[in-house]
Amino acid sequence: MKYFIQTFGCAANTADSERIAALLKKRGMGTAKSLREADYVVINTCMVRESAENRAYGLLNNLGGLKLKKEKLRIVLTGCLVGIAVRDTTGKMMERLRKKFSVVDEFLAISEVGFDNVPVRSDKTHALVLISSGCNNFCTYCVVPFTRGREVSRPYGEIIKECRELKNKGYREITLIGQNVNSYGADLVKNGQEAVYSGGRKINPVMVKSMGKQRIPTLFPYLIDDVAKLGFTKVNFISSNPWDFSPELIKVIAQNPNINREIHLPVQSGDDQVLKRMNRNYTAEEYLQLIKNLKLKIKNIRLSTDIIVGFPGETEKQFENTVALCKKAGFFKAYISEYSDRPETAAHRVFADDVPHKEKKHRWRVLENLINRTSSRY
Ligand code: SF4
Repeated sequence: MKYFIQTFGCAANTADSERIAALLKKRGMGTAKSLREADYVVINTCMVRESAENRAYGLLNNLGGLKLKKEKLRIVLTGCLVGIAVRDTTGKMMERLRKKFSVVDEFLAISEVGFDNVPVRSDKTHALVLISSGCNNFCTYCVVPFTRGREVSRPYGEIIKECRELKNKGYREITLIGQNVNSYGADLVKNGQEAVYSGGRKINPVMVKSMGKQRIPTLFPYLIDDVAKLGFTKVNFISSNPWDFSPELIKVIAQNPNINREIHLPVQSGDDQVLKRMNRNYTAEEYLQLIKNLKLKIKNIRLSTDIIVGFPGETEKQFENTVALCKKAGFFKAYISEYSDRPETAAHRVFADDVPHKEKKHRWRVLENLINRTSSRY
């Protein structure tokens, strides 16, 4: 049998698909060059925006037609759509999914895939390495905590072992992936300050600000330092949120020239009221202070970001505050998205999606022209 995996969404989904491919390979399947050639099709879905969800629905409809001609075709659904359904304890979401997509033969929860098999990577020089999955932050617009659940960190030694093996295989570039890499290891540290051992080395967790007030332990500065010291040409990390970007992490980046100087730091909005409604736990001023610090300590740093325009209730003045922040920050790239109302989220439950589509488009264009259509500010 031959498999084909269609992946929607972010780098975490791509890394998950590489682990699914490893599982299928272990079952004796080969790879199909195209969807039409495949006997076993896996659709790895994304729900972060409605448009991504709709693309998966479109594909499922087309596959329904294909299945009529090719009886043996097996269709497997995985990713966000299945993640949110398996977490619904009433079972109603899964029931709806089964009814809506009777063409699907198997619903695969990504938590069932595990890390026992070596991921099948198509890129032979640059590897994506998952360090954690899920998220504890509950930004009000974001469906990820519902689709991927709470943050779970992979064991420290397991990640280092995987990276060392990749280095030995000749990989030159690594991207460490988590929904919020800065809180990596909080769940591995027992009893708050208890030391953790890595390769016989005793390490004390770094305490970072989390959710505005609390402080949580993280091992990320140690982890990325150890990975960088394996000797890769370039080490990247995504995503990294502003509220727990620790001084220790800044120091580690400054000390390791092979850690990419292009850092992605999602801001989402430049208005304090909107940030508050997004549950982002920092102010525009705090964000600008952080990047000032980053630029001071890390030579040649370039920053990219994520911005949502048209969040519920975002006024013109509040949008102008975002424009003002962008001008001060001097991002070299921004992933700008129009607010998309997502099921289960707090924003969906509490706020009305009241910024007209035309206005969202206009705001998107303003920022696109400001950041992505001009040359680098550095
Ligand atoms: S940090 Fe916020 S935006 Fe990022 S995955 Fe978690 S809840 Fe979503």
